Amino acid sequence: MQLISKNIDLIKNEIKKICDDKGGDYEKITLIAVTKTIDLFRIKEAIASGINDIGENKVQEIMDKYEEIKNLSNFHLIGHLQSNKVKYIIDKVKLIHSVDSFSLMEEINKRAKKSEVIANILIQVNVACEDTKFGIAVEELEKYIDHASKLGSIRVQGLMTIAPYYEDQEKVRPIFKILKRKFDELSDLDYRNIEMKFLSMGMTNDYKVALEEGSNMIRIGTGIFGNRVYN
Ligand SMILES: *Cc1c(COP(=O)(O)O)cnc(C)c1O
Repeated sequence: MQLISKNIDLIKNEIKKICDDKGGDYEKITLIAVTKTIDLFRIKEAIASGINDIGENKVQEIMDKYEEIKNLSNFHLIGHLQSNKVKYIIDKVKLIHSVDSFSLMEEINKRAKKSEVIANILIQVNVACEDTKFGIAVEELEKYIDHASKLGSIRVQGLMTIAPYYEDQEKVRPIFKILKRKFDELSDLDYRNIEMKFLSMGMTNDYKVALEEGSNMIRIGTGIFGNRVYN
């Protein structure tokens, strides 16, 4: 209990400090605890320590944990989503962070309509154009936003990115700057079903820089739970 809650307090203090320095509102930052590979016992410890949002990168893990956690926390799908698995999570997650194709948008729209829910999504952007990462190019954003605005059962609520890993966190700053600028540009446009509310960027290694550059949703795994053990 102690280590997890201590880690969460530490991160919350960092968030407060950065918000104070920038003159931003601490209440507007969402801290998502990334719980992939983490068991229910430890997830519940995090929730008891003030976490309201948990992020998973696999559909199966959401399904495995959902019943035990659904009344305690919101779920976020933060990892790559295959169209054929949308149906399993459509009514379980608060936000899908990883939308990066028209066909996925259409499947989410279809399943949301069928379940009589509105699906809240973020568009995943691969700012650095890394081959190893999912996401669309920054230049393609308008095209995707335009497409989404025509689908009645989804709402685009913002953008998400996974930055490249650099030992030196300063190197990642330009990436976050680019996406924040785009986020602000899109906020000024008037599209149906689009509201630029969440900018999901920053993980254990780079969340401070991300917050300094305007992120309002950070996804932290290792910084809360320690190193993950994959079986
Ligand atoms: C695992 C993961 C994280 C958290 O990474 P840490 O470095 O452990 O904080 C954040 N976002 C996504 C999409 C992830 O898959």
